[in-house]
Amino acid sequence: MKTVFSGVQPSGTPTIGNYLGAIKHFVDLQKDYRSFFCIVNQHAITVPQNKQELQHNTRSLAALYIASGLDPEKATIFIQSEVPAHAQLGWMLQCIAYIGELERMTQFKDKAEGRSGVPGALLTYPPLMAADILLYGTDIVPVGEDQKQHLELTRTLAERFNQQYNDIFTVPETKIAGSGARIMSLQNPEKKMSKSDSNQKAFISMLDGEKTIMKKMKSAVTDSGREIRYDPESKPGVSNLLTIYAISKNISIKEAEQKLSSESYGSLKEETGAAVADILVPLQERHAELMNSSELDDILDKGAETARQASSKMLAKAERAMGLERKK
Ligand code: ATP
Ligand code: MG
Repeated sequence: MKTVFSGVQPSGTPTIGNYLGAIKHFVDLQKDYRSFFCIVNQHAITVPQNKQELQHNTRSLAALYIASGLDPEKATIFIQSEVPAHAQLGWMLQCIAYIGELERMTQFKDKAEGRSGVPGALLTYPPLMAADILLYGTDIVPVGEDQKQHLELTRTLAERFNQQYNDIFTVPETKIAGSGARIMSLQNPEKKMSKSDSNQKAFISMLDGEKTIMKKMKSAVTDSGREIRYDPESKPGVSNLLTIYAISKNISIKEAEQKLSSESYGSLKEETGAAVADILVPLQERHAELMNSSELDDILDKGAETARQASSKMLAKAERAMGLERKK
């Protein structure tokens, strides 16, 4: 059975971008793959986080994974910092990564921009991400479009390690979703939607209530003209809404276009808001139930245990390959 690994940072509440571009696909993949889905809290601290918020968001993200349909009987759901092998292998992969290739990462450039003190870990984020993936002998990594560059670097680091030390790592394939892979900001459709955006109106979070969803949709930036047509070049705002509508309804963008082409921008926003609420509202009930349950802790304890066992073999192999194992 092939292995899938992916993660989301508890750097805020996941958005519909995270859901449509990543989490929704995790749920589909768990049936056919040995599955590991991680809450990558060590990635989240590469930018400053409030301690209480980070703890809350970590638990909340775990509950959202399950509320979205991840099944702890099928998938291992765990918190990154509870499995020390991630940071250990992350350090080793930092040792073989070049500063030049890390500086070329667009996420580094975007997140470093405008900061007075740029944390070193923003630069060394990709080797930790490579470690997350390589520890489990991962075959495929489902991610949104923005993570493609990091996945290419993961492949490069795996190949470099295999060549320089020992051929131990599986070189993983990137699996990018079709149309949901790049959901754009509601306030600036030239920019991707992000949960850490300081403008709350730019995203719909998975925990926004129906009223908030409708309000945020209403204030979404559209384009000049009145025509509803999928054309990301000249109509990025409308195209983004059509994309959200189509995936939420499980129909193609062509079908969404046909259905809505005679409507006004106002009703496009309303229909899209309603389609999103139809998905999120039921899921939020399950989330609330899990947040205050010991069931969630049991799942995370078991997940951490399984992940610790599964990752320990690869860590030992990597240490042996690099000469970190003591010679007796
Ligand atoms: P942050 O702003 O803190 O980086 P984020 O919204 O980018 O948060 P991540 O935790 O970095 O979320 O990414 C989790 C997963 O969601 C990744 O697979 C990423 O590619 C995917 N993803 C993030 N944003 C989008 C988006 N706008 N559309 C589709 N997929 C996305
Ligand atoms: Mg991100």
